[in-house]
Amino acid sequence: MKHDLLGLKDLSADQIKHILDTAGTMKEIVLGPNKKTPHLQGKTVVNLFYENSTRTRLSFELAAKYMSANAANITSSGSSVAKGETLIDTAETINAMGTDILVMRHNLSGAPHSISKLVDASVVNAGDGMNEHPTQALLDMLTMIEHKGHIEGLKVAIVGDIYHSRVVRSNIYGLTKLGAEVTLGGPTTLMPMGIDKMGVKVYDNVHEAIVDADVVMALRIQLERQKKGLFPSIREYFRYFGIDEQRLRLAKPDAIVMHPGPVNRGVELSTAVIDGDRSVITNQVTSGVAVRMAVMYLLSRGGF
Ligand code: ASP
Repeated sequence: MKHDLLGLKDLSADQIKHILDTAGTMKEIVLGPNKKTPHLQGKTVVNLFYENSTRTRLSFELAAKYMSANAANITSSGSSVAKGETLIDTAETINAMGTDILVMRHNLSGAPHSISKLVDASVVNAGDGMNEHPTQALLDMLTMIEHKGHIEGLKVAIVGDIYHSRVVRSNIYGLTKLGAEVTLGGPTTLMPMGIDKMGVKVYDNVHEAIVDADVVMALRIQLERQKKGLFPSIREYFRYFGIDEQRLRLAKPDAIVMHPGPVNRGVELSTAVIDGDRSVITNQVTSGVAVRMAVMYLLSRGGF
């Protein structure tokens, strides 16, 4: 039976911990001098991306290569997708070439779940619409563990464009399963109705959300998914919802600052905060390679 990673909604706390433990070991390889292991020797990984990406796509590709897999990339603009081929036909074509792991990003929520039913390859969700981005949340949790030692009992404040964020949904599933307290803050126009039912506290502002937080995670304003008029202007947004050094003082003195990237400098976070010593954004990027190595390795060995 093949195994997939479609979302953290479907995983138990133990499965998430198992991935994070494995990723901790993989991180030593990423940071070490010899980045070539036999973990995926003879396997083929294809990245199929229908949306733009820098970090996620490159880190899946490097993760595959570091473990000696054959790795290839397809993007919608340079492929037959641009000639009108359907997602199903494209996925079946990739599957027919001997692909073992199909990593896919699509603007439609649920696209990887549907494709998984049609292909023999293991499917990894690299972001589906506004639904989930499981490897992002895993890399966020790995980074928190490295800086704070544990997830249980942490207060994690996630602020910004909650409505359009697949990152927040995966983080809520993962963090609450592992015992963190999650607070959300942002403009009401960017806060989905009923999100409090996911076991989180919701505020219509940022300052209350980040009080005494151990982790402050800012989310990108997803202008590409927004209808016009959800907030007055970028400048106003920063004034009321952006995190600068003064606002950050509301969090714990040793709080870390995270962002999944790409960051809009001076919108979600001030430049001083992004480049300051509380920011762990580049560590998140490194953790991303380790987490993707762990996920693909475990999938090739029978799942989590
Ligand atoms: N890179 C993340 C994603 O693809 C976050 C973002 O784009 O804002 O969801």
